[in-house]
Amino acid sequence: MTHVDSDALVLRHVRQGDTSRVVTLLVRDGGKIAVLAKGSRRPGSRFGAGLDLFCLTRVRYRVRPNRDLLFLDDCELKRNFDDLSRDVMGYAAAGTCAELVDRSVPAGAASAEIFDLLLETFTVLAETAPLPEGEGPRAAALSVVFQLRLMDVLGIAPELTGCVSCGAADLAGSCSLSPRRGGLLCRRCRASEGGRRIDPATVELLRAGLFGEISGVMTAPRPPTRAAILESRGALDALLEYHHHGRPSGFRSRHFLDDLWKQRS
Ligand SMILES: [Zn+2]
Repeated sequence: MTHVDSDALVLRHVRQGDTSRVVTLLVRDGGKIAVLAKGSRRPGSRFGAGLDLFCLTRVRYRVRPNRDLLFLDDCELKRNFDDLSRDVMGYAAAGTCAELVDRSVPAGAASAEIFDLLLETFTVLAETAPLPEGEGPRAAALSVVFQLRLMDVLGIAPELTGCVSCGAADLAGSCSLSPRRGGLLCRRCRASEGGRRIDPATVELLRAGLFGEISGVMTAPRPPTRAAILESRGALDALLEYHHHGRPSGFRSRHFLDDLWKQRS
C-alpha cells in the first residue's frame, strides 16, 4: 500500500449516509480521484474546512490497487477561495471549470498541468471578485479560456494559427472551425470540407486565450462580446464531443452560469 501526500483541489461532493461524503479531488500528483471522507459531515469533523468546494487542500490517502474508492486519512486547508462567494458569476464560472475537469478529463490522466491551470483560474477569479457592474461576461469568458487551455493539455486544442487543411495563414476574415479536422479552415477549404463558420472576433478571443495570459480576459480594456464568448464555447464543445470527452452543453454548472448571465443582461 502506498501513501499519497499531495496538494489537491476539491471538485465535487456527494453525500454518503448521514455523516460522510464522497469527494472528487484533482490531486496534483495523484490524478482525479474519488475519496470517502468518513464523518466529514459531522460537526467538528477532523477534516475541518479542508473539503469545502473549490478549496486548495493538502490531502493524505492510501492507494489500494484495483479499488475505485479510496479512503481519505487526513487533509489540511491551504486556501479557501472564499472571495469567490463575493461574485456569483465568478463562483458559477469556477463551477463550470471544476465540472469540466470532473467530467471531461479521463481517469488516470496526468494531473499536474491541469491542477496548475485550475488553481491559476480559481486564483484569477477570486482576485478579481467582485467584478464591476456589467463585467460579468469576463468570468464567463475566463471559463472558456480555461476550457481551451484544458483541451490544449489534453492534446485536442484546435489549430488556430492558420488553415488546418492548406496551411494558409491569411484567413481573410472568413473562416470556419472543423471539429473533424481539429482547427480553422480558410474560406476555400471550408467550401470543400464544411465546418461551422465563426466570426473574426471569436477567432481573436480563442487566439488570445490559447497564446496569451489566462488573466487576459479579465484585464483587457473591454470584456469580449456575448456572441464571441458563446460562439467560442460552442466551437470548443463540438471539438470535445468529437473526441469523446463528454457533452459540456448539458453540464449542470453551465445551465447555472447561463441562467445567471441571462438575468444580468
Ligand atoms: Zn485552407
